[in-house]
Amino acid sequence: MTYPAMLPDLSRVIALQKLDTTAHDAQRRLADEPERAKALDARLEVAKERLAEAKANLAANQAKRREIEKDVAVHQSRLSKFRDQAMAVKTNQEYHAIQKEMGFAQTEIKSLEDRILEFMLEADEQNAAVKRADKALAEEQKAVEADRRALAAESETLRTSLVEVAAERARLTATLDPHVLATFERVAKGRSGIAVAEARDAICTICHVRLRPQVFNNVRKNDSIIQCDSCQRILYFAPPEGAPAQASDNATHAV
Ligand SMILES: [Zn+2]
Repeated sequence: MTYPAMLPDLSRVIALQKLDTTAHDAQRRLADEPERAKALDARLEVAKERLAEAKANLAANQAKRREIEKDVAVHQSRLSKFRDQAMAVKTNQEYHAIQKEMGFAQTEIKSLEDRILEFMLEADEQNAAVKRADKALAEEQKAVEADRRALAAESETLRTSLVEVAAERARLTATLDPHVLATFERVAKGRSGIAVAEARDAICTICHVRLRPQVFNNVRKNDSIIQCDSCQRILYFAPPEGAPAQASDNATHAV
């Protein structure tokens, strides 16, 4: 922003503040980079865990099914043993007893086979879940890779901008009155890097303290370095859109 009537040094401190704020934001963003990279790793980790969990569910199903199949085999071998015995029985009583045992074994086999069928149906769903998780992981890998590239590109841009801002700052401070620069640096140091504040409606827009009318009238002229009584920041006035940048009439009485 440039105001025709503005004191050049005031324009410069406003520009200087912009550069410092840009540099500060860039540094903060760069400092966040490891955290953001970690968040990307975490996203990938979640997708990997989901796939591992789906695979573990399927494996558990298959293990249970194999156990039941073993039980079926045990009952089937008993059944065939009973069949052999049935051929060799001498009495009706023995025959009925074996028939009864065979009946038990068959019922048991039928019930186990029903359970195997349930496990097979469940395995179909679990297989589909593994495929879905596998696909989701592949997609997440692509997305994370793209975000990683974007993060690297952003960091590169920020580092370049920091170099440019530093050069621009050096050029600017070389043209700035050393006393004004010293004031700027001192206030910036004590006020989290913000040494310049707009005065609007007679209020310092950063510390929100109301300015004395005479001070505000002087600030409106933008022709001298005036600090906020409360926060010490260098004040400037931004004329409303379309309005000429000049002091109000009553400002002529101000000292
Ligand atoms: Zn203030």
